[in-house]
Amino acid sequence: MPPERTSWSDPAVEEVADGVFRIPLPLPTDGLRAVNVYLIDSDDGPVCVDSGWAVPEGRDAFVTSLSSIRRAPRDISRYLVTHVHRDHYTQAVVLRREFESKISLGRKERDTLEALCDPGEEMIARRRDNLRRQGASELASPLERFHRGQPMQVTSEWEMPDDWLRDGDVVDAAGRRLDVIETPGHTRGHVVFHDAPDSILFAGDHVLSTITPSIGFELLPSVNPLGDFLRSLARVRDLPDAQLLPAHGPVAPSVHRRVDELVGHHVVRLDQAVAAVRGGADTTFEVAKQLHWTRHYRTFDELDLFNQLLAVSETGAHLKLLEAQGRLYSRLDDGVLRYLEGDLGDRP
Ligand SMILES: [Zn+2]
Repeated sequence: MPPERTSWSDPAVEEVADGVFRIPLPLPTDGLRAVNVYLIDSDDGPVCVDSGWAVPEGRDAFVTSLSSIRRAPRDISRYLVTHVHRDHYTQAVVLRREFESKISLGRKERDTLEALCDPGEEMIARRRDNLRRQGASELASPLERFHRGQPMQVTSEWEMPDDWLRDGDVVDAAGRRLDVIETPGHTRGHVVFHDAPDSILFAGDHVLSTITPSIGFELLPSVNPLGDFLRSLARVRDLPDAQLLPAHGPVAPSVHRRVDELVGHHVVRLDQAVAAVRGGADTTFEVAKQLHWTRHYRTFDELDLFNQLLAVSETGAHLKLLEAQGRLYSRLDDGVLRYLEGDLGDRP
């Protein structure tokens, strides 16, 4: 097959709606290829949805792309950030120090952001305990080495936003009225921005066009992140259909179509997780190793450390939902969660 001539992640600015520009910025990890920042243009100071990862190549690409539409980082009045993950949030923090733009973030990201601002030993201990519960203690040492290798970078990228967004807020973004909708799941405080008059959804990582969002990959996950995510999908499915502006991947014509596909994906994955438990895998880690990962159907062992951690958190989210549905039950055995099929009520 000949290589694609253009890809959504190529550094080029695309006008996706009147005065709305998609600006893909590179990421230092290859898995996601790029993150889309959306600039809503206005003479009073453009507004951006998301900001990119604070790495030199991201900044260079941002400056170059903005100059092609005769803009510069100093012009941006406000960053509306969909969630606290670093590929969305951290470049806004660094640019704010120089240009005094405002940053807005969903209020339910607050606990996570406070923990990220003050990482230290507690964060490492929490991650270690969490991996132990999931039966994945063997991933703790490589993760610890990774964190200890870059303490400065971890602390300097995190600061509080200027304001917190809540469900039902209406944001004036360069003349567009954007409804703020809380969509917990990918993270606890994820929000999307809905431009109802123009039928556009700035979807962040809640609805992605070509891949499935990771679930609950965060320092302080909720009790049932996949349950939250599926409810949040139902919520945007109830809105009138809109053009999908995702944070990774190309723009797509229908939010509804993509939401239906994502729900279908999780139905299949939930059944696969039950089958793995039935086959004898009894910890989150063991179930994760039974499943295949990414669009390329990779085995768990073929994934790098970061993607193995994503796979474990994703599997944990599936198992928690299955437990909430009564299809599995769990017990804590020496600090490790062990799953069995069926409802605790069925047991003698
Ligand atoms: Zn992202």
